[in-house]
Amino acid sequence: MEDTYQVIVVGAGFAGVAAAKKLGRKGVRVLLIDSNNYHQFQPLLYQLATSQIGVSAITRPLRSVFRRYETVRVLTASVATIDAAQRSVTTADGVTLRAEILVIAVGAVPNFFNTPGAGQHAFPLYSVTDATRLGTAITRLLDQADRNSEGLVDVVVVGGGPTGVETAGAMAENVKYMVRKYFSPELAARCRVHLVDMVPSVLNMFSTKSQRYATERLQKVGVQLHMGVGVTEVRTDGVALADGSFVPAQIVVWAGGLKAGDLISTSGLTQGKGGRVDVRPDLTAPDVDGVYVIGDAANITDSTGAKLPQLGSVAQQAGKWAAANILADLAGGSRTPFRYVDKGYMAMVGRGAAVAELGRKRIQLQGLFAFLSWLLVHLALLSGVQQKVRALFSWLNGYLLHSPAQVVVSGPTEKELSGLTLPEVRPAPPTEAGLEKE
Ligand SMILES: Cc1cc2nc3c(=O)[nH]c(=O)nc-3n(C[C@H](O)[C@H](O)[C@H](O)COP(=O)(O)OP(=O)(O)OC[C@H]3O[C@@H](n4cnc5c(N)ncnc54)[C@H](O)[C@@H]3O)c2cc1C
Repeated sequence: MEDTYQVIVVGAGFAGVAAAKKLGRKGVRVLLIDSNNYHQFQPLLYQLATSQIGVSAITRPLRSVFRRYETVRVLTASVATIDAAQRSVTTADGVTLRAEILVIAVGAVPNFFNTPGAGQHAFPLYSVTDATRLGTAITRLLDQADRNSEGLVDVVVVGGGPTGVETAGAMAENVKYMVRKYFSPELAARCRVHLVDMVPSVLNMFSTKSQRYATERLQKVGVQLHMGVGVTEVRTDGVALADGSFVPAQIVVWAGGLKAGDLISTSGLTQGKGGRVDVRPDLTAPDVDGVYVIGDAANITDSTGAKLPQLGSVAQQAGKWAAANILADLAGGSRTPFRYVDKGYMAMVGRGAAVAELGRKRIQLQGLFAFLSWLLVHLALLSGVQQKVRALFSWLNGYLLHSPAQVVVSGPTEKELSGLTLPEVRPAPPTEAGLEKE
């Protein structure tokens, strides 16, 4: 592979895709590297895990996203190390690539806060793989409970932020409607969903009114709340809490926080809170030239110096802003400090129920209007027309008819996978002319 890229972008999430698109539109030669050959839409992962939506609604092949961008090359490869000072990256198969400007947009990984057993026994929810694994585990557990007329099905969700609330709400509604309809009311009566957080209320970043609404709504659909008490250990049979109690569970979902992945620590960049890079106001990394860090991998501040949350809207806007600054770099102009347009935040609680606090003035909506706004905003943000259509049909099906998008969520078992040899690219034999001889 030739070393001719002006910009290398590592990571094709909200931030990396936004940056690569803006640069590609201006004819900049970009290499976009991601370990997946698709872009995944994280805000709907919980719907994938709870059978409300299919994989093809929340993923889009990167080569399809960039099919009209002649100067953007997509490379599917896992980056093993980053050398920020050299503006180079080395892939897991040992290829080193350099560029004039490096953009690090590798997102985050779950933060288990050193909770014993969490890394081994809890299900994180940060990727399509995570969500598929969780959905498969839930479906298998329900099938097993259906064969055994006495077994209980307990799920604990750790973390009362938007991801935890959305997941617990969707699971409890599945019990109330889907399990009752597709399995039996008797099995539904044996299922419990628990939500645990060390802070006293769900949706800590929202107003008290929104918190109260979400709490009442979750309780109404049967979620058992354990607020103001931390998890001290995750075991195969449940979670131990700081007050000495124990909540039995076969499945523990971890929605308890994020940190930067190990890749950042290979880069030589100084790490701040959560292992993220404290970027300058113009989104460049300190102490090196020509390196930008954006999205969940960075601690980004607004114009007042306050740290912005790890949100898709922050990542997307930072991606576009970094691209504008890179265009200025390439043209010999000057960079400008990032200005975030705060559109507020929202969380789905269940069918016809959501909370939204919109804009800088935090206009509060609860209930049906918030629910409809949530659907519209997420539909608008989803990448790809086919994906939007699929999501819309799944929502109509699920919310109007209580019919899950995927009754069956199942990957191959380890037994089915073992002994399978996956095909590999045949290496071309070296020849002088570079052409293979007969
Ligand atoms: C379950 C969930 C729900 C959420 N809901 C919302 C919401 O409702 N609203 C909202 O605004 N935000 C939401 N967020 C947050 C939002 O999704 C993130 O802030 C956003 O995705 C961050 O974008 P990013 O581009 O920095 O990282 P990501 O979107 O995580 O993208 C990082 C990319 O880097 C790639 N990558 C990582 N390591 C490597 C490597 N070593 N080599 C190659 N590629 C690599 C990954 O494959 C990935 O494609 C949610 C997050 C989660 C997990």
